[in-house]
Amino acid sequence: MMARALSADPPTLDRVSSPAYARPVPPRARRAAARGGSPFDPQETPLARTRRARRMARELALIHPDAHCELDFTNAFELLVATVLSAQTTDKMVNRVTPTLFAKYPDAQALAGADRAELEEILKPTGFFRAKATSVLGLAQALLERFGGEVPGRMADLVTLPGVGRKTANVVLGNAFDVPGLTVDTHFGRLVRRFGWTAEEDPVKVEAEIAELIPKRDWTMFSHRVIFHGRRVCHAKKAACGACGLAQWCPSYGIGPTDPEVATKLVKTPAASDTE
Ligand code: SF4
Repeated sequence: MMARALSADPPTLDRVSSPAYARPVPPRARRAAARGGSPFDPQETPLARTRRARRMARELALIHPDAHCELDFTNAFELLVATVLSAQTTDKMVNRVTPTLFAKYPDAQALAGADRAELEEILKPTGFFRAKATSVLGLAQALLERFGGEVPGRMADLVTLPGVGRKTANVVLGNAFDVPGLTVDTHFGRLVRRFGWTAEEDPVKVEAEIAELIPKRDWTMFSHRVIFHGRRVCHAKKAACGACGLAQWCPSYGIGPTDPEVATKLVKTPAASDTE
């Protein structure tokens, strides 16, 4: 009943910062505490876990109706380069340098022929700029030599590019090619483990397990929503449990402050989000 009433609320981030979510410790979290804090319950059946996961995924869609890729891009090439640049920095920082970068080097051919010193100067604010200059130069050259300067739209091809792993490939496939992809970044891995959906640490194994729980057509948007939740509510150090709309299904409820007032202060607004 409670979930249905809450689902009728306006779909804004206010849903997660409302004290209405203050409630006693959910039984699932009590059982997790009894297991020594492990959120993964080996006794939960695959069917029950799938149902719970899909219920939480629906709630995430209501909590974060505005979820989207937070890197700015206008085509697959820009998204691929921006994703490679986003390592060890925030999306916001990448978005600050990419307008200059793509104005000067709008495609693989231009980037492959870039003057290294000029490129490094543009990339400097993103940190590790020498390594990143090497990465994007190598990437542009590979695109030029092996794919006619175009970004390939297949996972098997994308992961052959230097510096491109499954995470980056899924970002590009999901957001530039409309091919569903699960983006297992640091937020995604942390959250699905906290949700008790998997006990795996390896991103490839996490991706495979979550692929069994969430319908394929939803993978891209689901990834955005989980990452939004990780950036705004379920932080690595101080999870805002007392202001979290997933509390009743989450075995990790209580790892962060449960007091609604304290927790609400931890919720980051989109503008204040670190978008790391
Ligand atoms: S904030 Fe707390 S209740 Fe919400 S998903 Fe994270 S650990 Fe679970």
